Amino acid sequence: MRYYIWTFGCQMNTADSAKLATGLDRLGLQSAATPEQADVLVVNTCAVREHAEQRAASKLGDAKRLKATRRDLKIVLTGCMVGPRLDDLRRRFPYVDAFAPPQAFAEIAASLGVDGLPEGCTPSQFWRDVHPSVDAPAAFVPIVYGCNKFCSYCIVPYRRGRERSRSLDEIRAEVRHLVDGGVREVTLLGQSVEAYGRDLTDEPDLADLMRNLHTIDGLARIRFLTSYPTDVTKSIVDAAAQLPKVCECFSLPLQSGDDGLLERMRRGYTAEQYVDVVEGIREQIPGVEISTDVIVGFCGESEAQFERTFDLLERLRFDKVHVAAYSPRPGTIAAREMTDDVPRETKRARLAAVEALQKRVAGEINAALIGSVEEVLVEERAKGRWSGRTRTDKLAHFDGNCRPGDLVRVRIEKATAWSLQGSVVGGS
Ligand code: SF4
Repeated sequence: MRYYIWTFGCQMNTADSAKLATGLDRLGLQSAATPEQADVLVVNTCAVREHAEQRAASKLGDAKRLKATRRDLKIVLTGCMVGPRLDDLRRRFPYVDAFAPPQAFAEIAASLGVDGLPEGCTPSQFWRDVHPSVDAPAAFVPIVYGCNKFCSYCIVPYRRGRERSRSLDEIRAEVRHLVDGGVREVTLLGQSVEAYGRDLTDEPDLADLMRNLHTIDGLARIRFLTSYPTDVTKSIVDAAAQLPKVCECFSLPLQSGDDGLLERMRRGYTAEQYVDVVEGIREQIPGVEISTDVIVGFCGESEAQFERTFDLLERLRFDKVHVAAYSPRPGTIAAREMTDDVPRETKRARLAAVEALQKRVAGEINAALIGSVEEVLVEERAKGRWSGRTRTDKLAHFDGNCRPGDLVRVRIEKATAWSLQGSVVGGS
């Protein structure tokens, strides 16, 4: 039986798909090179925004067309689109054979009738011990699943459940496995990554975990995301500042620069408290890269409130801003209790304004790097050039003598808002 997986959404879904693929391989299935060659199509979905859901639905349309020509083709829908109630999904996608919530790997295998478990091993033991194989120099490693925050616009806690941390030993074993397979950089993942360890008996924190992983020979870089502004502790910033393998990067969603909207979003901080966190990190880690997420057009957002967000983005000058226009997610507090009253055109205009601002700011930040030498992890070669990421997570395209997985020093010769270009000046 051959399978093909389509993955949408965040890095957590990418990590889930890698784990599912490795587990299915171990259970005797084979990966198909194209959807047309597969006996099973898995669509791993995202429901965080309307646009992501539409993309997954369009892929399901492709799957439906394939199934019309191949009656034995199985289609599995998993990820954040799958909640506890399936009636609506069954009505919209009657040709889907199985629905599985995020990370329900055993349910997916069972729905395919796969029975290749090692003797004496339960499905949950089997899937707990599956460490994904990643054929790339960089990999994602989930460390805490779920979220306890319940921001009013967000569907994630309803789909991924409450916070559950993986044990330190389990994560170390996975990272060791990845490094043995050629991975040099890991990104530790959590919806709110600083929540790591709170539910474990001896309550290790993210800093303890990073110190532990830091001792793994062959591992060159550690990243972590996504940070929750009020959860960033001194211990975590200290670890990021002190541990050489930990890259100087924070992903710190702001969502809005207006206190009234932050309250309606149930974010639990004010704009100035957020600024204090950013300034604290920048003071302790000079040259740190900070990226953020912003929602425009949230329920009731006035022009003045949007301008407060815009002004804060201009003041804080982030390296990256991921901006999205608000779309109500059924089942969330905002969808139940608030009115999506900002006109679509206004949302679009605000989105375009933030994108234009960020293009200018990122262009200026990156231009200042021209002439500097940056450490880059070589990832792949395309169109005759190498590409990889700097420690501060900037995409670099460059020429030189190297291989995927090498850490090289690249002199930056050109820059745009989205990438750097240069040439290798020697290994590091
Ligand atoms: S912290 Fe808020 S936005 Fe992030 S996953 Fe949790 S509920 Fe959603």
